[in-house]
Amino acid sequence: MSAFTLRARWVVPVAMPPIEGGYVAIAGARIAAVGGPEAIVGPVEDLGDVALLPGLVNAHCHLEFSSLTRPLGEPGSPLPQWIAQVIVERKRADRNATAAVAAGMAESLAAGVTTIGEIATNQPSVYATATPRPRLALLHEAIGFSAARSDSVFADVASRAEQAAADGASVLASGVSPHAPYTVHPELVSRLADWAAGRDAPIAMHLAESPEELQLLAAGAGPFRELLDQRSMWDPGAIPAGTRPVDYLRRLAAAPRALAVHGNYFGAEEIEFLAAHRDRLSVVYCPRTHGYFGHEPYPLAAMQKAGVRVVLGTDSRASNPDLNLWSEARAAMELHPTLSPEAALGMATLDSAGALGLENQVGSLAIGRFADLATVPLVGEGDVLAEVLNSSNVTRIWLAGRSVLPEPLA
Ligand SMILES: [Zn+2]
Repeated sequence: MSAFTLRARWVVPVAMPPIEGGYVAIAGARIAAVGGPEAIVGPVEDLGDVALLPGLVNAHCHLEFSSLTRPLGEPGSPLPQWIAQVIVERKRADRNATAAVAAGMAESLAAGVTTIGEIATNQPSVYATATPRPRLALLHEAIGFSAARSDSVFADVASRAEQAAADGASVLASGVSPHAPYTVHPELVSRLADWAAGRDAPIAMHLAESPEELQLLAAGAGPFRELLDQRSMWDPGAIPAGTRPVDYLRRLAAAPRALAVHGNYFGAEEIEFLAAHRDRLSVVYCPRTHGYFGHEPYPLAAMQKAGVRVVLGTDSRASNPDLNLWSEARAAMELHPTLSPEAALGMATLDSAGALGLENQVGSLAIGRFADLATVPLVGEGDVLAEVLNSSNVTRIWLAGRSVLPEPLA
């Protein structure tokens, strides 16, 4: 097994404080040591005036929309309107899925994102084409609001998830994703969470994203009810009156790791439940998508104060101009001035890895983790993490200890 060591002006392990003049030793695909000169194994490459970091982990994405050059619809439009456009776009996207997914993976990797929590609607084979490609936690999407369709939707999703799990090295996890309360019957959510528990797999669900969703849950009314009626999908017995997002969190908590995506309208009850189940429940905040729809201010401070694990995702190019997770971290810091560079970086690395159940694989520089690394040049003399977040100009990337960007000469 080949071994070598990288030296950088600052090594940023994330799981421990930055190390000035630090070393990261790599043996094969994994990190063998992190620290001072005692960490050296094999030949040393001095990277110079850079910060050496773990590759970022984007907790939430839909790569199938990566060919879009601008978000769908108009900023500030209600979510149900946007969803109607997504349904139209998806038919077109399905025909170009392989190219779009490859473009999204290349864009992500160039930004230093080496692992993606991907909501997968296609067969797992569409992810196997691009090389090099980020690692994936595939969350196979389920859409089925009527109880009558539950069996067939469940069987399809479970079969795709099992196929992807067998697919090999770049798929780190293969889980499931009931899309949202307005597209999935609550009993199907529970069934998928139980499936995830049985496979030790993650589950993700869009939850508490819009006021219209809360209206549907509370009273079976509003624009989402109309959308379901138009498609003859409304099932009057599915959602009892007075339902809250916390009722879905209770179902999701059966899985070992569950990601509640967005949570823009989580209230005290949800926050309390999330904090009490922090080991298995996380919230994915997508700041620029939140901004695109013009939602109420995001409850980040309340969630973090309560101890909820909140991590970062880009969502897709259908609601975001690009897939750069650094821009997401910067947006979060601008919107929430008390959020430190250290916390923002954690939300894009170790915390997002933990949300997906991958904290022992990726998201930090520590012994045994994959050697998925990125460098950001340093020009200033100030706080290293502030400079990294501010610049976020990724110049080199390694996957499994192999330099992939810029592409090696011959
Ligand atoms: Zn999403």
